[in-house]
Amino acid sequence: MTHPKAETVTRGPRPLSAAWGLAAALFLLGSPHCQARQGPRVFTCEPEWAALVVELMPRAQVASATTALQDPHHIEARPALIAQMRQAELAVCTGAGVEEGWLPVLQQRAANPKVQDGSPGMFYASDHVTLIDPRAATLNPLAGDIHPGGNPHLHADPERVAVVARALMARMQQLWPQHADEVAQRHAAFDQRWTSRLTVWRDKARGLKGQRVAAQHSTFAYLWRWLGMLQSMDLEPKPGLPPTPSHLRSLLQAWKVQPPLATVVAAHQDPRAGRWLVDHARPRRMLLVLPATVADPTKPMALDHWFDEMIEALLRAASAPTPTEASVAAETG
Ligand SMILES: [Zn+2]
Repeated sequence: MTHPKAETVTRGPRPLSAAWGLAAALFLLGSPHCQARQGPRVFTCEPEWAALVVELMPRAQVASATTALQDPHHIEARPALIAQMRQAELAVCTGAGVEEGWLPVLQQRAANPKVQDGSPGMFYASDHVTLIDPRAATLNPLAGDIHPGGNPHLHADPERVAVVARALMARMQQLWPQHADEVAQRHAAFDQRWTSRLTVWRDKARGLKGQRVAAQHSTFAYLWRWLGMLQSMDLEPKPGLPPTPSHLRSLLQAWKVQPPLATVVAAHQDPRAGRWLVDHARPRRMLLVLPATVADPTKPMALDHWFDEMIEALLRAASAPTPTEASVAAETG
C-alpha cells in the first residue's frame, strides 16, 4: 500500500552558502518585473516581506537577508548584508525580537540613517498588528527564547499579512510620493486577490478545525490559530531551547491519549527530533516538513503559493491513512 509522501515540500541539505548567494542574487536582479532596475533599494529581513514589497512595488530592488532554509532568529551579520543595508532606502523586518541577534549589528555597521529605528525607512511588521501569546519576561538565559512581547511569527496569519500590507503601502507612499498612485493600485489589486484567497483557504481547510498538531517552536502558531487547530505538543522543552531526548520521550504518553494529526517541523529546523517522534510515537503519524516562509519572494504570488502549500500538506495528512512502518522509515530515515 502506498500513502502520500510523509515528508512534504522542500527538504534537504541546508546550503548556507547557496542561501547567501541567493540573497545576493535577489539584490542584484531586483524583481523579475523590473528589467531596468531603477526602483528604490529595499532590504528585508525575511523573504515574506520581500514578497510583499514585490507585490506593492515590482520596480523595487529587493534583497532578503534570510531564506526559507535559514532560521531568522540566528544569522550572522555578514559584510554582504551590511553593504545591502548601507544602500537601502527602506528596510522591512518583523521586529518583536526575531532579529535582535543580528539586525542591530547591521544597522550600526551600515550607519545608514534611513534605516535606523525611528526613521520612516525602518518598517517593523510587528508594530502594526497585535501579537499572540505574550509571556512574562525573564532574565534567566536557561528559560529559552521566549518572545516576551508575544509571538513574532505573525506572517503565518494571512489576515495579519493583509494588515501589514496596508501599513507597508502607506509607508512606501510616505517615502516615495512620486510612486504613491502606483503603490495604491498594486495594493488594491493585492488586497482584492488576498480577500478572495482567504475565503478559498477557509473553505478548503474547514476539516482541519479542532485538529491537533505536534510542532517545533511557535513558528506556525498563527497558522494553527487561523485554521482553528491546536498545537498540543511542542518539540522544544522550553520556547527556543532545542528538543531533548527526555522531553521527546515525555511526549509519547500524551500522544497515545490524544494523537495529533501530524508532526510539523519547519524547513529551516533540524528535523531529527520530529523524525524520532514519528518513529517512536503510536499511533503513527506523518512528519510534515513545511517551509516557514516563501521560497522565492520574486515569484508572482509567492505568498499565495506558500499558504496553498501548507494547507494542502495539512489536508493530505488529514486524509491519509496512517503511514505504514516501512514507508515512514523509508521517508524519514
Ligand atoms: Zn521564534
